[in-house]
Amino acid sequence: MSTRINPDFKNELTHFGKDEWNECYHCGNCTAICPLSKDGFLFPRKDLRAIQMGLQDKLDASLEPWLCYYCGECSETCPRDANPAELMMTLRRYLTSRYDKSGLAKLFYTNHIWEYVVLGLMFLAIVVAFLVFLPLKTDAALMVNESGGVMINSLVEGINAERFIGIIEYGDWTMAIVIALLLVSNIVVMFYKSVLSENGIRIPFSSYFTEAWQLVWNFATQSRFSKCDDKQYWIGHLLLMTGYTIMFILVVVFLPLFQIETVEPWWHWQRLLGYYATFGILFFLTIVTIKRLQKRDVKLKYSHPSDWIFIVMLALTTISGILVHIFRLQGMVAATYYTYVIHLAILVPMLMVEVPFSKWSHLAYRPFAIYFARLKTVAAEVEKEKSHKELVPAVGS
Ligand code: SF4
Ligand code: SF4
Repeated sequence: MSTRINPDFKNELTHFGKDEWNECYHCGNCTAICPLSKDGFLFPRKDLRAIQMGLQDKLDASLEPWLCYYCGECSETCPRDANPAELMMTLRRYLTSRYDKSGLAKLFYTNHIWEYVVLGLMFLAIVVAFLVFLPLKTDAALMVNESGGVMINSLVEGINAERFIGIIEYGDWTMAIVIALLLVSNIVVMFYKSVLSENGIRIPFSSYFTEAWQLVWNFATQSRFSKCDDKQYWIGHLLLMTGYTIMFILVVVFLPLFQIETVEPWWHWQRLLGYYATFGILFFLTIVTIKRLQKRDVKLKYSHPSDWIFIVMLALTTISGILVHIFRLQGMVAATYYTYVIHLAILVPMLMVEVPFSKWSHLAYRPFAIYFARLKTVAAEVEKEKSHKELVPAVGS
């Protein structure tokens, strides 16, 4: 297959973050210092070279940007201040736009106004839908239970608690299925570009199953982060990831158990899980916000608008969720209802935009990249063994 060169590629990439690609003189320090660059996947110097040469197809098929966890050690040691860590981040944004065939990821990354417009329209649509179709009940007394807490499922006029929770649950599942379908279709494109389109590669069928644990393990533990020198970075990501995964599972899968009329005591498992998730998310957000504003840590020195959108949306969702909880415990009916509406009006657009089209997609792409890289390594090992076996009798005969 001939190698195509896109001379304008460097300019195209500037829309995704880093805007200067010529400082690097290829000393190789970055690759040597990188704790994650190994097992046949060497970065970041190789990717910088590919950008400078305009090898767009090669980069489209590259898994390396996902194998980099932005620990920043390469940028700290670069003698030319080329900031290869930010280069890898820029490539992750670019690749996200290449996997998404709807074009929305590219639109959001390259023209943020559109992202604000879509988020704003979805916010308004949810607020209006609640106020028109699910308005607050007029009889407030009925919505406070014996323990003094607001019966959140009985807030809405004209329908009973069971039907209200059914409507929210239906909306949750619809949203989760749409997000999953979009994400899966992106991952299929990623698989095609990075594995199937590579000439001569034959993945042993059994390895799809034997290597599948990589996916679950790396998603659940974020263990690659732990290879970076800065262990706090790993702990922060682990708290964040477990926090929002717990919240997502609670509100989508276990909503009827979670959003109930009774106010459970603080030690009940639902509340404890909710408190853990809230703590994890807030801890991460606080540290990251301070460091992004300080601009001292190389990992958080450069902020793309998509980084701030992610932080602000997640913070607003978490704060509105905390307020719903406080107002509910205090028996403040109207405050609980209106904050609940605002909470959903932030949460839903954030998940619909950020998970398939922006920064949250990294949560899925990273473990899949590790899985695909492992499949390629196994295929290479099998090929090597086969050619060795063919060679040995040939030499012996
Ligand atoms: S990015 Fe910096 S450290 Fe890496 S090869 Fe280029 S000049 Fe050397
Ligand atoms: S940021 Fe860290 S993981 Fe990424 S290339 Fe640099 S040293 Fe390696």
